[in-house]
Amino acid sequence: MVDLQTQYQRIKADIDAGIQEVIDSATFIKGPKVAAFQEHLEAYTGAKQVIPVGNGTDALQIALMGLGLKPGDEVITPTFTFIATAEVVALLGLTPVVVDVDWETMNMDVESVRRAITPRTKAIVPVHLFGQCADMQALMELAREKHIYVVEDACQAIGAQFTFANGETKQAGTIGDIGCTSFFPSKNLGCYGDGGAIFTNDDALAERMRAIANHGCHVRYHHDEVGVNSRLDSIQAAILDAKLPHLNEYIAARQRAAAYYDKAFADCEQLLIPAHQPHSTHVYHQYTLRVVGADRDKLREGLAAAGIPAMIYYPVPLHQQKAYRDPRYKDGDFPVAEKLAACVLSLPMHTELDNEQLEYITKNVLDLLR
Ligand SMILES: *Cc1c(COP(=O)(O)O)cnc(C)c1O
Repeated sequence: MVDLQTQYQRIKADIDAGIQEVIDSATFIKGPKVAAFQEHLEAYTGAKQVIPVGNGTDALQIALMGLGLKPGDEVITPTFTFIATAEVVALLGLTPVVVDVDWETMNMDVESVRRAITPRTKAIVPVHLFGQCADMQALMELAREKHIYVVEDACQAIGAQFTFANGETKQAGTIGDIGCTSFFPSKNLGCYGDGGAIFTNDDALAERMRAIANHGCHVRYHHDEVGVNSRLDSIQAAILDAKLPHLNEYIAARQRAAAYYDKAFADCEQLLIPAHQPHSTHVYHQYTLRVVGADRDKLREGLAAAGIPAMIYYPVPLHQQKAYRDPRYKDGDFPVAEKLAACVLSLPMHTELDNEQLEYITKNVLDLLR
């Protein structure tokens, strides 16, 4: 699904030098490499404040803590997503409220969000699934009208651009009150372990979240609130700082591979290619097909037999996960998400796919459907 080894070989000298510098300086936590990466990521994203943290899940948790949400507060998330989005809501004793997604974009359906809002709703967490922005224009308008916070889960979408009706363009994660991203190795900007970051344009909120990520500590050994220990370590920051200048090339390489897939599958009636949205670029964290006129699982087995990995992201929507079963929801309540769970198939997607590999993959997919 990914080829991190070849990607490393291309910039090995820079990465190795960065790691060695951290070891030589012995500044493993909160070192100058973290500060430098933070500054470079602020410049890249346009976010006023970047707060590096331990991973993307922590980023989401610290965001909700930073907003001061209390048990009983409702947080709306899509039911078709990675579990972390709802996990942090549940861990904080907040009430996850799930909504269905759009069949074309696979992102949060705005009308479903509108219907799910109650007087207890405090935040909406849109997920920019697979690397394409949710409809942030409509979601931000709705959130402002209802005085609700927006926390973007941009863990799969760093570098994606959203264009508003007035022509203004912003990056995924910098549109809502807070944005969260992950540097898990296979993410579009991945480190060599765990890492994550929070984005915000609100200085006071940034200071609060920085303190929460550091044991709730504004002044050393003085703890004003309950926090957590969540830091990006200096070695990971050095790796990320070496990779960040290449992120736009990485995105372009993914988009090139996606265009190859799109072209190959355009006329295949059993496959629906990812929807292209006029308001968002797609950075293809995943290239996810909807298999509509064929047996998805058989196709996946056939590909595996030809040495081609293909994954199901995600096989079970949140409302059908054992740990998140809730009497408010039953099977069939979120038909689009349930249909997607039964038909999605993600093909290999990374920065190192060449035409020979793409030809082999697409030929096998099409042959198996014949
Ligand atoms: C990867 C991911 C996360 C969690 O990030 P980690 O760094 O693995 O904790 C959260 N949400 C989504 C949508 C993700 O893809």
